[in-house]
Parts: sequence; structure tokens; C-alpha cells
Amino acid sequence: MSKRDYYEVLGVSKSASKDEMKKAYRKLSKKYHPDINKEADASDKFKEITEAYEVLSDDQKRAQYDQFGHADPNQGFGGSDFGGGFGGFDDIFSSIFGGGRRRDPNAPRQGADLQYTMTIAFEEAVFGKETTIEIPREETCDTCDGSGAKPGTKPETCSHCSGSGQLNVEQNTPFGRIVNRRVCHYCSGTGKQIKHKCSTCGGAGKVQKRKKISVKIPAGVDDGQQLRVSGQGEPGVNGGPAGDLYVVFNVRPHEFFERNGDDIYCEMPLTFAQAALGDEIEVPTLHGKVKLKVPAGTQTGTKFRMKGKGVANVRGYGQGDQHIVIRVLTPTNINEKQKELLREFAEMSGGRPDEHEESFFDKVKRAFKGE
Ligand SMILES: [Zn+2]
Ligand SMILES: [Zn+2]
Repeated sequence: MSKRDYYEVLGVSKSASKDEMKKAYRKLSKKYHPDINKEADASDKFKEITEAYEVLSDDQKRAQYDQFGHADPNQGFGGSDFGGGFGGFDDIFSSIFGGGRRRDPNAPRQGADLQYTMTIAFEEAVFGKETTIEIPREETCDTCDGSGAKPGTKPETCSHCSGSGQLNVEQNTPFGRIVNRRVCHYCSGTGKQIKHKCSTCGGAGKVQKRKKISVKIPAGVDDGQQLRVSGQGEPGVNGGPAGDLYVVFNVRPHEFFERNGDDIYCEMPLTFAQAALGDEIEVPTLHGKVKLKVPAGTQTGTKFRMKGKGVANVRGYGQGDQHIVIRVLTPTNINEKQKELLREFAEMSGGRPDEHEESFFDKVKRAFKGE
């Protein structure tokens, strides 16, 4: 079966912003969530939407998708599997563009830092989780112990640069002779030459491996925040320390809850009668269902704060609240008997809005009269 275009799945344009994508995902996931939608293909649809969102909400994955579509052979889309959210920072730039800065190629250097984007569920961000990720990472070659030379042999000092890794290049110009210092291209700046290369790594001293790393998602982490996993980047050079791994969290939005910092927002529908007469309702929170007393005469848009029902702060600074926003539903499809009762109700209330709203109408009237 051919895969549908991710933009088409979410029903957004190719230029959609992150916010538009978030809104589209929330809307569709509400519609097709298997807990709500009992149609046979709902769960497949939900999976399709989630996959599309995971790719398009991640800048790197989206860029790759825009370029290669579903055909990109390097892309492991879907789930929290390793995808394109990975980029090493190559040290070679500093040696080329370092403004002639001299550096001993044999000095110990720290390995490169790595970045990994991890897509997690809303609840996983709220409550934290211990999980394992698999990343492709350069590891020191076991065969040659990182030297790059065939076992039994050793790398030799580069005869062209005498081990400095740099060469002086002389140039005759109309202004005289200029001496430039360049990276030695015989040894690529390493200062060493390997006559007999290690057959496992081809002389690089490093091999690409998929490494499993356990990651503890801290409870309360938010979208876009990152976690440093010390010493899990690429291995160091010449015995230097390894780099660090930065895990960036990409949190999927929830169907019902919206998060702002440590506070949670949730809309609750209320019937016209419940709003007018008051009621005790059950509201969902991240910590289970909670009873909420709604007073008589509650208006649409009224907010109720439930202290401590939000997200525990990731740095340990207390706990957020949950805010319930009331939406009063106007009854539809009412029968004759109900209509009759409402007419009776309207007659008794004078067929006009109550005092609070009357004053509002008065204000509007005054505004038009120019008073
Ligand atoms: Zn090797
Ligand atoms: Zn050299």
C-alpha cells in the first residue's frame, strides 16, 4: 500500500507553521482516538496521523521529508525509532577556519557532541519514564584500538609535515611572497601516516556502531527542552574525553489537555441546565478524575482552578495547577415538550436576558446614541 503524503494526512499546507500543525494534530487525534472512535479503521488512521505529526513537527525530519519524501532510504520514520534527528558537529571546521590557530594534532581532544531528537507522549513528559534509545555513534575500533594501523604495526609520523599536521604553502604574488599555513593534505592534519591500514576501520580508528543508551526522561519536561547525557557523545581523540549527548524532547500534544508551563488547561462542556442550576461534575485531570462543584448561574468561559493538579516542575519547584474552562452547550434537537417548557421559561424571565446581560445591552445602546 502506498503511503499518503504527511501534509495531506494532517490536512495542512506545505508551508504550515508548527502551531498550525499542532492544531491540526489535536483536532484529528480527538476525532480518531481509538478510545473515542469505534470505527474499524480509526486506530490505523490514528497511527497515520501520529506518524505524520512526529515527522513534520521535527524540523530535521521535516526537512528530510520535504527533500526525499517517503523514499529516503536513510530515514527510519515512525515511533521513537532513530530518525534524522541526529547531527554531529565536526571538529574539522575549527582546523580549517580557525584563522591559522596552531594546534598539536597529537594533543588529546574531546569527542564531538551528538544531538538526538526524541518524540514522546504528553504523559511521558509529565510523569517521566526510563527508556532506551539506539543511536548510530562512532566508537573506537576494537581491532586497532583506535590507532587505525593494522595490528602489529604502528602509525608513523607524517614525513611531509613532520607530525605537525600543517604545511607552509608559499605563493608568489604581485605583492611579494606570501606564506600560508594549511592543513597537511597528506595526513589530513593528523600528523600521522598509516602504511598498513587496519582492515576493520580502514585506517580511521573509529567504526560506526548502533549504541543502546538508557535515558531517564525527567518528570515535568516540556516540549523543546533538552537533556545532557554526559560522556555519551563520540569518543575522544588521542585519549581525550568523549563528547556529550544532547537529547531534545519533542512532546506530542494531548487530545484534551493543553499545557502552558506547569499548568494544564482543559475545556469542559456543560449543559444549559447544569450551568443554570449548578451541579457537581467529574473532570479529567492528569492525576485521575476529580469532582468539581459548579455553582448555579455559571457562564460560558468561566475558569475554575484546581490547585496542584498540573505538572510537577521539572526542577523541583512545586506543582502546577489545572484550569477548567466551561463551555455551555445550547440545546439542539429538542422535542415539543422541551420547547414548551423553554417557552414557559422565557415568558417567566420576561423573554429578556438577565440583569447582567441587560446592562451590557444598555451599554451598547448608549454607545450607538453617542452618550
Ligand atoms: Zn581499526
Ligand atoms: Zn602530514
